Amino acid sequence: MGALALSSQAVAEIAPDPLARDIFKQLIEINTSLSVGSTTAAAQAMAQRLLDGGFAAGDVQVLVGPNPKRGNLVARLHGSGAHKPMLIIGHLDVVEARREDWTTDPYVFTEKDGYVYGRGTQDMKDGDAIAVASLIRLKKEGYVPDRDIILALTADEEGGTNNGVDWLLKNHRDLVDAEFAINPDSGGVDADAGKAVTFNLEATEKLYSDFQLTVTNPGGHSSLPKPDNAIYHLADALGRLEKKPFPFELNPVTRAWLEYMGGIETGQRAKDIKAVLHTPANPAAVARLSQDARYNSTLRTTCVATRLEAGHANNALPQRATANVNCRILPGHSPEEVRQDLIRVFADTKVTVAWIDSATNQPQDTAPSSKAMAPPPPRADLMAALKQVSGALWPGVPIVPEMETGASDSIYTMAAGMPSYGFSGTAIDRNDVRAHGKDERLLLSSFDEGVEFYYRFLKAMTGTK
Ligand SMILES: [Zn+2]
Repeated sequence: MGALALSSQAVAEIAPDPLARDIFKQLIEINTSLSVGSTTAAAQAMAQRLLDGGFAAGDVQVLVGPNPKRGNLVARLHGSGAHKPMLIIGHLDVVEARREDWTTDPYVFTEKDGYVYGRGTQDMKDGDAIAVASLIRLKKEGYVPDRDIILALTADEEGGTNNGVDWLLKNHRDLVDAEFAINPDSGGVDADAGKAVTFNLEATEKLYSDFQLTVTNPGGHSSLPKPDNAIYHLADALGRLEKKPFPFELNPVTRAWLEYMGGIETGQRAKDIKAVLHTPANPAAVARLSQDARYNSTLRTTCVATRLEAGHANNALPQRATANVNCRILPGHSPEEVRQDLIRVFADTKVTVAWIDSATNQPQDTAPSSKAMAPPPPRADLMAALKQVSGALWPGVPIVPEMETGASDSIYTMAAGMPSYGFSGTAIDRNDVRAHGKDERLLLSSFDEGVEFYYRFLKAMTGTK
C-alpha cells in the first residue's frame, strides 16, 4: 500500500478482504444510473452474494416496486432478540456518468496508483459493498448479535421517483422496522494530505425543498411597455431574497460542530466562532462567518434561485415568468413555514409561490407542514462503539457531530421515527471529493479500512454488554 495508505502511520496495515473487494468491483460494474441502469440487477447480485455467504433464502429478499428496474434488497442477520433491530441503509443507484467525460470507463473497476476509479466508488457503492461483506463475515463466524441487523440497499436516492427507503417504509415496514438506522452515505473520515483528521458523525440533516415562483400578465406589444411587467416583478422578488438571509439558528449538533471548528480555526475566524456560540450571539460575527458558504449553510436555512424562465417572444411583453428557488431547511422547520417566509420576503402579491412535490415534480399550492426532524438524541452505546473502533483504526482522530447540509435517505428513516446516524468507514481526502463528478475514485487501502471498520463497529455495537 505504501505511502498512499491513509493511516499507515497510525495503525498496522489492514489486510485486504478479497471477497469485499470482489463485491465492490461487481457493484461498480453494474450500471445503476437512472437513465439506463438497474438497481434491481445490483440488488439481485448482492442477494446472491449473501446466499453464497450462508444466509437463508427467507432472510434475503429483492423487492421491486412500480418500476421493475428500480428494485431494492432487504436482508436480515438474526440476533438474540435482546434489543429491537438496527437497520443499515445504502443506496444502490449512482449519478449519471458519461464515458466521454471520464478518463476511464466509469462502469469498469479500474485500479491505478493505489486508487480504484469508477462511478460509485465514493458515493456509495463502497459503503454498500462494505455492508454486504461485513454481514457475510459475521454470518460465516456464526456471530449472534444482541439485535437483528437489517440491511436495505435501495433505489433512487440520487434522483428518480422510486425512492427505495420511502417505498420500503410505506409498503414493507415490518421488514425494515428498527430502533435506529445507520447510513454510510454521509459522515466518515476526512483526511488532509493523506492523514485522517476527523471522524464525522452525521446526526441531523437539512430538509430539501423546491419552490416555484410564477408571475403572469396579459402581456402585449413590446413597443408599448406597461407597468406590471412579469419579469421585473420576478427579478425584484429574487433580488429581495438575496438581500434577506434566513435568521441565524443553532441546534445541539451544529453547536457541537462549531465548538470543534473553533478549536482548529485560528485568528478572526476562531474569535467569530466563539462569538456566535455565545448567547446571545454577536451579530457582526454571524455576518462575517456567513460570508463562508460552508458556515453560512450551517447557521441558517438557505434558499437560492437556481432556474429562471420568462417570456415567449423578443417583441412581446412577457405573459409569464417563473423561477425555481431551492431551499435547505433547518431541523425544526417545515416547508410550509418556509413558503410563508418566502412570500413575506418577496412582498409582492403578483408573485405566487408553489411548492414542488419531488415525488411527482408538480407544483402544489401549499407545502407540507411536517418539520425536518429535530436532531436525534445521542446514543451512548453508539458513541461508545464508535469511539472504541475509530480510536483503534484512527488513533487521536476526534469524532465530530455534524449536520448534513445536503440531504440523504436518512430523511425518510428519521421521519419514520428511527433516529438515524450517518458515517462511512472510508477516508476521503478533503481535496479529493469526487462524488457526482468526473473520475470518481477511492484509495483501495481506504476501502479495506472501511471493511474492517464496519465489521468491528457492528460487533462493538451488538456485542453482549
Ligand atoms: Zn450518496
